[in-house]
Amino acid sequence: MSAQPLITGKTGLLGVIGYPIQHSLSPVMHNAALVALQPGGLSDYVYVAFPVKPEELPIAINGFAAIGVQGFNVTIPHKQAILPFLAEISPIAQTVGAVNTVKRTAQGWWGTNTDVQGFLAPLRHLQRDWSQEQVLILGCGGSASAVVVACAHLGCGSVAIVGRDQTKLADFQHRYQHLGLNLAVYGWDQLAHLLPTTTLLINTTPIGLSPQPEQSPLTESEVALLTPGAIVYDLIYTPRPTRLLQLAQARQLVSIDGLEMLIHQGADALEIWIERSPPVEVMRRAALNYLGGDEHRA
Ligand code: NAP
Repeated sequence: MSAQPLITGKTGLLGVIGYPIQHSLSPVMHNAALVALQPGGLSDYVYVAFPVKPEELPIAINGFAAIGVQGFNVTIPHKQAILPFLAEISPIAQTVGAVNTVKRTAQGWWGTNTDVQGFLAPLRHLQRDWSQEQVLILGCGGSASAVVVACAHLGCGSVAIVGRDQTKLADFQHRYQHLGLNLAVYGWDQLAHLLPTTTLLINTTPIGLSPQPEQSPLTESEVALLTPGAIVYDLIYTPRPTRLLQLAQARQLVSIDGLEMLIHQGADALEIWIERSPPVEVMRRAALNYLGGDEHRA
């Protein structure tokens, strides 16, 4: 039986804002970590999911300030909309152009972005010369922003972005051209030309996400075009593995799903709020148990 937090008059409030938010794994991961950090169950904090509609963001943030919320995560659709409410933004969040972690300070709200480090976490133990990597990112939405900044951190040789909206693609390229990456944008009709030279493929679209687990952004014959030794990284973590990762595994390609990114962006956020080392393994166990005890990591 898992320990329960004892909520007292001194318990601080952490949370996540998004809309919708009821499917978030963050409360499960964070509360497990907070309990584990407090033997005896006396928790200094609890972590709650707050459904905040876009039009109610200002009132929610002012309310958080009024009631002493210590920090919170930010997810869709508020990662950019939160920016005007922050007194200070970290350099990494400025580079990404989005905030997923906010902390109360004496000066007001301070925002940062832990998605970049979260994305990098499962790549760190791979022995690769990232400067030789030919990256292909599917999608140019919010998570693609963190991914492209992560590619710059790795020093990747070239990054191609595939999207379905030419205006959004051009805007994306313009926003991140200062990163110094060899960044190019393409329509989906260019996939067959791009895949044979791709060594790191990253899916940032929701194609294949539950409840459409049979879908895949690439067909079997498109996956067959990837070079042996290519990495296929799908940001989706439900289902595990996605159809795309099943196709990659059938070809013995290196396959990575989005769960480690989720865990590490959460762990980094927790460390920022409570200024203690987060129990990453506790967070991983809690997330896996909640997802149905699936121990298989793609
Ligand atoms: P987003 O901002 O909505 O971006 C999604 C991108 O995918 C957009 O470029 C969108 O194009 C494109 N797209 C959507 N449906 C498509 C389709 N049927 N065909 C082609 N392109 C399509 O969403 P996001 O925040 O980046 O999240 C994307 C995925 O990443 C979600 O599945 C989410 O669960 C996952 N994610 C995982 C983590 C993690 O920690 N593991 C973190 C963040 C996100 P348009 O703009 O044209 O619609």
